Amino acid sequence: MRPPASTDVLVVGCGPAGAATATWLARAGREVTVLDAATFPRDKTCGDGLTPRAMLEVDRLGLGNWARDRITIGGLELRGFGHERRVPWPAGEHGGVGSAVRRTVFDDRLRLAAVEAGATVLDGVRVTGVERGDDGEVTAVRAGDDRIACRTLVLADGVRSPVGRLLGRTWHRDTVYAVAARSYVRSGRHDHPWIGSDLELRDEAGEIQPGYGWVFPLGDGEVNLGVGALATSARPANVAVKDLLRHYARSIRAGWELEGEPRAVTSALLPMGGAVSGVAGRNWASVGDAAACVNPLNGEGIDYALEGGRLLAELICAGDSGVAGGSSGSGGSGGSGGSGSGGAHGDLTRAWPALLRETYGESFAIARDAARLLTFPQFLPLAGPVGMRSQTLMTAAVRCMSNTVSDSDRDVVARAWRAAGSVARRLDRHPLFAD
Ligand SMILES: Cc1cc2nc3c(=O)[nH]c(=O)nc-3n(C[C@H](O)[C@H](O)[C@H](O)COP(=O)(O)OP(=O)(O)OC[C@H]3O[C@@H](n4cnc5c(N)ncnc54)[C@H](O)[C@@H]3O)c2cc1C
Repeated sequence: MRPPASTDVLVVGCGPAGAATATWLARAGREVTVLDAATFPRDKTCGDGLTPRAMLEVDRLGLGNWARDRITIGGLELRGFGHERRVPWPAGEHGGVGSAVRRTVFDDRLRLAAVEAGATVLDGVRVTGVERGDDGEVTAVRAGDDRIACRTLVLADGVRSPVGRLLGRTWHRDTVYAVAARSYVRSGRHDHPWIGSDLELRDEAGEIQPGYGWVFPLGDGEVNLGVGALATSARPANVAVKDLLRHYARSIRAGWELEGEPRAVTSALLPMGGAVSGVAGRNWASVGDAAACVNPLNGEGIDYALEGGRLLAELICAGDSGVAGGSSGSGGSGGSGGSGSGGAHGDLTRAWPALLRETYGESFAIARDAARLLTFPQFLPLAGPVGMRSQTLMTAAVRCMSNTVSDSDRDVVARAWRAAGSVARRLDRHPLFAD
């Protein structure tokens, strides 16, 4: 099937961010075309873990039972510094239940949801260029010989965001990011209802790494086993991440009843915590990894991709009815202060980054600061043993790290986390989602 000559909304990328944006827009009655360079079902380097925050969005899309039928995960089994602790997911607004679905399967189901909602979804079509009018508005995209005119462009083109880069999207590596690798391994405990999370991640030389190792049971005979390490341009990760993964697999082989070697080992970088600028223009916006919407403390991004897709769809629809382009500004680091280039209805230039800051500003700012602390080699060996000694501390840590503190929560941990987030955001030298 060839792409249409024109469409109302054109979405580049059909991962969680693109599929969610397309689904919500199509459900709202918009004409949507999604183009993805890959042929589905396609793989994506990922841990495949769905936290309660992700499950809330999966439920909103109507796919919660479908995911829970694969596996239901109750929380984390944390190990390290001489301790082991089982910490259930926090109950509350986010539901207290997680899952894990391999991305070949998960993303294909999300893609189908977009089709079911009425979007036209074409795979195997790579977007190679963007055309802009005199006022900077995107008028069309190019995909090889095809030209597709559009009224609104959504960039859900992932971590490298090749199309976003054409429009000026820039990733700032001086802010904390991660290098991570994943693999699949057969396991006698593939249906264990807890995630394995090893906080004392050591390389072959015994050097402690600023990150963690994970085992996400998939319930289909295999587990997703991986490692991630935090870095900044000042303190790059001093580790060969695939070797670290194999070493980690050897160290937990018996406990997880692993059979054979890790297969399909792949690695990737993760920009995190909104460490990008240029995420929107008059009639275009970036979402998901393209907008660095990844939690700096645990590397999860599926939830933010799904959530961001819903929020962006709502903003685009609100723009049509004349309520966007200033409604989302909340001051703080930039605010919207009205629509940047002329005040047109639906101008996303400032409205979208302002909405991202309003939604994630505090949690990403404090998580970025905490993650940066972890990149100092002295920090983890000191803090790790203290934290792991206490069930209360680790329960609070899991709640904060998984960003499941709700606005309505009034307990001490929630108040402290929010206060720290607001200070971190005020002191931030690199505003999130900068213009
Ligand atoms: C090792 C690792 C482990 C992770 N583990 C987890 C985890 O357990 N849980 C979690 O929540 N998150 C995890 N993440 C993060 C998560 O994978 C991402 O945040 C998530 O995939 C973001 O979704 P997305 O839709 O923004 O991008 P993607 O899923 O990357 O989708 C982008 C799509 O855009 C398409 N595309 C790119 N360029 C073009 C183009 N020019 N034309 C057309 N199409 C294009 C691609 O083909 C792709 O399908 C992990 C990441 C890594 C690297």
